[in-house]
Amino acid sequence: MGNSNGLAQVARQELSGFGGKLTGPEDPGYEEARAIYNAMIDRRPGLVATVADADDVATVVSFARDRDLVLAVRGGGHNGGGLGTCDDGVVIDLSALKRIEVDPGGRTVKVGGGCLWKEVDAATGEHGLATPSGILGTTGVGGLTLGGGIGQLTRTCGLTIDNLLEAEVVLASGEPVRASAAENSDLFWAIRGGGGNFGVVTSFTFHLHEVGTVIAGPTLWPVEQVPEVLSAYREFLPGAPRELNGFFANMTIPPVDPFPAEIQTRKACGVFWRYVGGEDDAAREMAPLLDALPEPLLHGPQPMPHADAQCATDPLYPAGEQWYWRADFVNRIPDEAVTEHARYGAELPTMKSTMHLYPIDGAAHDPGPEDTAWSYRDANWGTVYAGVDPDPANAAAIRRWCIDYFDALHPYSAGGAYVNMMMDDEGSDRVRASYRGNYDRLARVKAEYDPGNIFRVNQNIEPAA
Ligand SMILES: Cc1cc2nc3c(=O)[nH]c(=O)nc-3n(C[C@H](O)[C@H](O)[C@H](O)COP(=O)(O)OP(=O)(O)OC[C@H]3O[C@@H](n4cnc5c(N)ncnc54)[C@H](O)[C@@H]3O)c2cc1C
Repeated sequence: MGNSNGLAQVARQELSGFGGKLTGPEDPGYEEARAIYNAMIDRRPGLVATVADADDVATVVSFARDRDLVLAVRGGGHNGGGLGTCDDGVVIDLSALKRIEVDPGGRTVKVGGGCLWKEVDAATGEHGLATPSGILGTTGVGGLTLGGGIGQLTRTCGLTIDNLLEAEVVLASGEPVRASAAENSDLFWAIRGGGGNFGVVTSFTFHLHEVGTVIAGPTLWPVEQVPEVLSAYREFLPGAPRELNGFFANMTIPPVDPFPAEIQTRKACGVFWRYVGGEDDAAREMAPLLDALPEPLLHGPQPMPHADAQCATDPLYPAGEQWYWRADFVNRIPDEAVTEHARYGAELPTMKSTMHLYPIDGAAHDPGPEDTAWSYRDANWGTVYAGVDPDPANAAAIRRWCIDYFDALHPYSAGGAYVNMMMDDEGSDRVRASYRGNYDRLARVKAEYDPGNIFRVNQNIEPAA
C-alpha cells in the first residue's frame, strides 16, 4: 500500500493532458471515489481516475500498462464480485461518461460507458421505447451489457447484447476502435458476453423496441407453497407468449408500502411479472398459471411506464450493503430441485436474501450458442442465490446460506453460470464452464486485442498462447 499512496501524485505530474479527476488515498473524496455497490468487497485502489472522454481512457490505460499496475474498469460499480475495483492499482471510473442520444426515428440509443440503466430507461421511455436491461435501475450499462444482460424484457426482446449494434472501445494499446457486425466483427462477437476482457467501452449503441406502458408487479404465495407454485411455474412459463416475462422468487415480503401490512415480513414465493401489452391481455395470459394455484397473498400487477417498473425495487436494495451470491444456468427444474428450493426458501437467513429464477427463453433463444460469446442459448433459466444484508455482522451467515443453497441445486444445473452473477472467488474452471465451446475462440480474440492481459480484473479469459 506504501507505493500506492504516491500513485495519484505521480499521475498528476505525468498525465498533463488528462481532463478528468485523479483521486488517491491522500485526497479528500477518496472514500466516495473508491466506493462500490457491494460493501462486502472493501478494496483500496492507489488511484481512481474519473475520465472525461475516450482520450482520458487511453491515457490511463497506457499509464497503468507501462507501469505494470493492476487496472480495474468501473462502469456502474454494481458487480457482485466487486470486479470494478482493485487493491493498490488503478481504477478507471467511467461514471462521468453520461451522454445519452436517443434517435426515436431510427430506433436507436447511443449511451456513454458510465451510464446507469435508470438514466437510459428514463431517456428512451420519453419516446415509449426501451432496450432490454436488468431488473434494477441502478445497475451499470457497461458491466451488465458486456456480460450479456438478463432482465424483464428477455423473452420479448432478447438479451441486452442481442440489441447491441455498435460499441466504441479503447484497446489495451490505447487505440480507440469501433466494434460492430461490419467493423472488428471478432471483437464485436467477443464483447457480447465476454465481459470487460477486451477493452474499455466508452459508448454503446442499442436497438430500441416499442415498450411504453407495461403490466408489472408480483403475485405472491406463502413460502410453504413453493412445491406447487414452482412446479406450476416451470410448466407454464416456457409455453407463454414472448410478451409475458416473469421471474420466480423466494423472498421475504418487505416491510414497506405498497405491500399490505398484514403480509409484510412473511416469507413468500412468487412471480414478478412484466407484460408488454394491455391489462386485459396480461390477465388472459397469466390466467392459466393463476387458475391452477391457490388464492395468492397478493396479486399486484398493474399498468405503469416500463421505465418506472425498472426502478420500482431500487429503494429496497441500496448501495452499501453486504452481498454474496452464486449462480447457475438451468435447463429443467426436476421435482428434486423443487424440494430443495422449498427447503432453502424457508430458511432465508435475512430479510433481503433471495433466490431468483430468470427466464432466458423466448427471444433469447433466437441466436445460436456460437452467434455471440454468450454460450448458454439452450438454457431456459438463470438462477441466482443472493445473500443480502445491511449488517456486516451477518456476512458469514448470508455467505453460508448462499453456498449451501447453490451446492444443493448445482447438481440439477446445466453446468456453467451467468458470469455477471458470479463472485470473484469461483476460479477459472467456473469461467471456462460458463463459456463452454466459445472459450477457446474468446482466448484467441483476447490474444489479439489484449495479449498482456491488462484487462484481467473481471471473470478472466486468459489470452491463447
Ligand atoms: C443488485 C444487483 C442486481 C443485478 N441485476 C441484474 C439483472 O437483472 N440482470 C443482469 O444481467 N445482471 C444483473 N446484475 C449483475 C450485473 O449485470 C453485474 O454486476 C454487472 O457487472 C454490473 O455492471 P456495472 O457496470 O454496474 O459493474 P462494475 O462493477 O462497474 O463492472 C463490472 C465488470 O464490468 C466491467 N466493465 C464495466 N463497464 C465497462 C465498460 N464500459 N467497458 C469495459 N468494461 C466494463 C468491469 O471492468 C468489471 O469487470 C445485478 C447486480 C446486482 C448487484
